[in-house]
Amino acid sequence: MVPVKIQCGCGQKYAFEVEPICGRMPGKVTCPVCGRDGTRTANEAIASQLAVQLASERSVHNIMMVFAVIGCLTTGIVGITKALTMADGVNVLLCLLGATAAFGMALAVFLWKRDKSAMNRPKLRPNFPAR
Ligand SMILES: [Zn+2]
Repeated sequence: MVPVKIQCGCGQKYAFEVEPICGRMPGKVTCPVCGRDGTRTANEAIASQLAVQLASERSVHNIMMVFAVIGCLTTGIVGITKALTMADGVNVLLCLLGATAAFGMALAVFLWKRDKSAMNRPKLRPNFPAR
């Protein structure tokens, strides 16, 4: 789950946790006070949260990974934006496939890094109990 905090244009702050699909909101989110659409802000919050989670590992290698993930996410968003403005059905499909691949790559890198750091963690503990 990723914590998302949103400050609406009306001044209302609201927060929630979400399981992102392809690094984005699985559905729409609206301000509880004025009903304004906050989905785009939420998507930006998720992207930065994912980046923060990766950056918390604190190494140059991980920072490079963060940029790779952000690059892939950006590619995916651009792909979807392009697909939405296209009229031809085949082009839309190709573009969406490209966007999905970019998102998938970002997700794969993210999960791979998380698994790897989880595996390394016990070795870093000096007081790991020996039998
Ligand atoms: Zn509002």
